[in-house]
Amino acid sequence: MKDEWGRTIDYMRISITDRCNLRCRYCMPDGVKSVPRWEILALEEIEAAAVCAAGLGVRFLKVTGGEPLVRRDCCSLVERLKKIPGIEKVTLTTNGVLLKEYMDRLLQAGIDGINVSLDTLDPEQYRQITGRDCLDEVLEAIGRAASLGIPVKINAVSLDLGDENWQALVKLGKELPVDVRFIEMMPIGHGKGFPSVDHRELFEKMHAVYPDMEPDSRRHGYGPAVYWRIPGFKGSVGFISAMHGKFCADCNRIRLTSQGYLKTCLCYEDGVDLRAILREGKNRPAGEMHYLWPAGMSPADPALQRRLREAMEAAVSRKPKAHCFERPQDITEGADMIAIGG
Ligand code: SAM
Ligand code: SF4
Repeated sequence: MKDEWGRTIDYMRISITDRCNLRCRYCMPDGVKSVPRWEILALEEIEAAAVCAAGLGVRFLKVTGGEPLVRRDCCSLVERLKKIPGIEKVTLTTNGVLLKEYMDRLLQAGIDGINVSLDTLDPEQYRQITGRDCLDEVLEAIGRAASLGIPVKINAVSLDLGDENWQALVKLGKELPVDVRFIEMMPIGHGKGFPSVDHRELFEKMHAVYPDMEPDSRRHGYGPAVYWRIPGFKGSVGFISAMHGKFCADCNRIRLTSQGYLKTCLCYEDGVDLRAILREGKNRPAGEMHYLWPAGMSPADPALQRRLREAMEAAVSRKPKAHCFERPQDITEGADMIAIGG
């Protein structure tokens, strides 16, 4: 599907929960409230939205959160998403804490790749950022996923933790066949309090250490990362530079929040409430914790799909041309990243 700027939209990020087992200071510090479970889309509702998106040309799905693996039906969801006609790849973004436990199930479900968010290899810094001591579990899971042949990417938000920090992360790609990607901090939610490292400076420093690094034009994924190869390394280094390397002209993505709002740009509130269409104003029955999908109804129900399609097409056609992170006064998105899904 195309937006009014002629961009092809073929990638949807799906946040399946606003809960998390970590407390990253720039994302979900202590005290951030989660919404009642009833507000979160049921598995079938997510599937219905994904069926609709696939019918409109979306080929790539990323399951995210909150932490997607804290949701018990995450692997079943991956399995269902993989079976949707038109969907070519389903990948997952996780903090890795529960990854070892769910790795086999994810493989059985047909997962096509796993992104593990990891900002530091220093145990004390890890604890300070995330609020927990579980770096070893995460590293073990990364090693296991790589040894099983799952395409793995490490995502590190570029916090100013000193040169040793990024150097250690880059070296992960020497030992393991994993891409290590640095992400400029975006002024969304609690990220506003953490000024981003400028990737132009990070690149200069990296280039000084690795003067032989060269552009890597091979396709690594379906997003905005720019990749470089370092001779002798098994994985590549990637830069996702939303702040100092605006990539909006090539934006191919939309986002479904855990509460069923289809967002067309990270920076703005623009989008459409698909949950209202999925539930048609149904109220929460007394005592019910989760929304229960109507028995016997298919997520591919033609009448439902027609309504979703109209709403999705209209929202996508109005997708903003570009983000406005450089003009913070114009940002209209007030939600936390934990609710949006990154
Ligand atoms: N819990 C999972 C994880 O950590 O990968 C998935 C959700 S998390 C919100 C997705 C990604 O968003 C993580 O890589 C996280 O570091 C990143 N993130 C969170 N807040 C951000 C911000 N303000 N700017 C840039 N990236 C951010
Ligand atoms: Fe949780 Fe991921 Fe946010 Fe960290 S970045 S608090 S792991 S959702």
